[in-house]
Amino acid sequence: MAKKQFKTESKKLMDLMINSIYTNKDIFLRELISNASDAIDKLYYKSLTDRKIKVNKDDLFIKISLDEANRTITITDNGIGMTKDELETNLGTIAKSGSELFKAENEHKDNIDIIGRFGVGFYSAFMVAKQIDVLSKAYGEKDAYLWSSKGVDGYTIEEASKDETGTTITITLKDDSDEYKYSKYLDSYEIQQLIKKYSDYITYPIKMDMTESVPKKGTTNEYEDKLVEKTLNSMEPIWKKTNVSDEDYNAYYMDKFVDYNEPIMHIKSNIEGKVNYRSLIFIPSKAPYDFYTKEYEKGLQLYSNGVLIMDKCKELVPDYYSFIKGVVDSEDLSLNISRETLQQDNVLQTIAKSLDSKITKELESFLHDNREKYEEFFKEFGMNIKFGCYNNFGMDKDKLQNLLLFTSSKDKKLVTLKEISERSKDKIYYVCGESIDKIDNLPIVDNYKDKGIEILYCDNYLDEFVMQSLRNYDGKDLINIQKEETDLSTDEEKNELKKFNEDNKSILDLMKESIADISEVKFTNKLSKHPVQLVSKGNVTIEMEKVINAMPTNETVNAEKVLEINKNHPIADKLIKLSKDKKNEEIKNISKVLYAQARLIEGLPIDNPTEITNLICEELSK
Ligand code: ADP
Repeated sequence: MAKKQFKTESKKLMDLMINSIYTNKDIFLRELISNASDAIDKLYYKSLTDRKIKVNKDDLFIKISLDEANRTITITDNGIGMTKDELETNLGTIAKSGSELFKAENEHKDNIDIIGRFGVGFYSAFMVAKQIDVLSKAYGEKDAYLWSSKGVDGYTIEEASKDETGTTITITLKDDSDEYKYSKYLDSYEIQQLIKKYSDYITYPIKMDMTESVPKKGTTNEYEDKLVEKTLNSMEPIWKKTNVSDEDYNAYYMDKFVDYNEPIMHIKSNIEGKVNYRSLIFIPSKAPYDFYTKEYEKGLQLYSNGVLIMDKCKELVPDYYSFIKGVVDSEDLSLNISRETLQQDNVLQTIAKSLDSKITKELESFLHDNREKYEEFFKEFGMNIKFGCYNNFGMDKDKLQNLLLFTSSKDKKLVTLKEISERSKDKIYYVCGESIDKIDNLPIVDNYKDKGIEILYCDNYLDEFVMQSLRNYDGKDLINIQKEETDLSTDEEKNELKKFNEDNKSILDLMKESIADISEVKFTNKLSKHPVQLVSKGNVTIEMEKVINAMPTNETVNAEKVLEINKNHPIADKLIKLSKDKKNEEIKNISKVLYAQARLIEGLPIDNPTEITNLICEELSK
């Protein structure tokens, strides 16, 4: 029979498995059982949506058999099974979890532990097997097929016979060596321990024939060994159990949701009331690699009294918490809830609402009790929360605003709005820019530093939108210091400046005339040592202009820009002198250079760099 080759990636992974020096080979059993359980879920789920399929929940099971003489361990399930094509694509090509592993490997090259902590599905069986046979009959098919492989050199698929729908996987164990006794997996007590440890929560019975001493018939104190079928797992899902250790929750999460990092926290609830439900929610410590792509689907696993009815129920998760993983189990949900009616389902809506506020509350306490970890969380998923603050016209901002963190100008550390609000008088000032360093060097910031006023440094491109959506916090307006109208000076200073600008109106008009794309030029006393700056009028700020124009859409916006010149800088004196000497051409040239300078400081492009650099050189040569 023709041997088929594995895909290159699969070969590499298999090689890794076969030659793995990783010690925790035990996990192969967990992986195979988890696949079997998934296959049963799939069949059961299908029966819920297709009336023609009759499946009795009590008939579903996983069975393990050990054969010492042939050194085999067999795992049978009566789940959905695989067709010939599915055997080919599912087992011949690298599975999802496998590709995740490669990613993990590339990220932490020297971390051999990854394989064990993470699991790699079906292929992990090659850690202990010298041959694997997969006999499978897919639901609704009459033919069965046998997939067979001895490892890297390929696999075969042939027609076979099998009565029941489902899959039987037979592992022929490697020979024992000095390093490892593979025959331990032929010991039924060892298997029993492993199932308890790793697969106890599986919701279908995992059965195995075990010898037990039973009283001999007709006697009272004589015993004989008898084979009895035992169920090895408690079948109690982990979210229903009490006294589960953090370690166990973490292991469950990593296995179930295919993540090689421990979650940053888990949130468990058991709600009894109008609607009863239990939930176990995890917050990952790292965003999955596809988190910011269209492929990523948010959602929680949905169970109706222990039976999986949906794998990713997105209706339970608001977009701003799209990173959460976990399960919801409710006896109040109907088994044949359909995707179409989900949105109108009252029970589901009630659960979603209650979960939403539970998560918000937990995150608030997390922020309060474990600041360092929370900051890690916020670095990873803060964007989501920010997005939630302005999305849907800011509908959720009141709920989410206390979860926000920004950098403070004081010590460059992260602060909450509440913290800065408590330290601020009647307004909360902020400034936006590309990076904390760049913001810290903005001319406008000096004035605030000099006056000892704390500012929020907003270096995320969403921040300006968030601030405009929030508008105020705790009764204090959120004020962008780069807006023209933001001015710390006294009325007296303002009047004085107004007069100064009126006196020099002709200079300012001339300057405005020589600069395209500017709405006003004026002298200012907001700057301490820098000569110029750009500020904006109206709702579109310079930061917003940059962000919106950088988006891959046709939409462009223009902030209404005001060029402010430091009235106390020598350049102001020079302009006034040139005006007296009627040197208009020179004023125009200086205006262009000053404007280009202000744009540079703001990180805006310059349309006419050659002209500007020539002008500068001309000045330098004088
Ligand atoms: P993963 O479970 O992460 O997708 P695996 O390598 O463990 O990766 O399995 C690959 C695929 O093979 C599964 O997604 C599933 O479609 C199929 N499969 C594995 N075991 C079984 C089984 N016992 N019954 C039906 N299908 C299975």
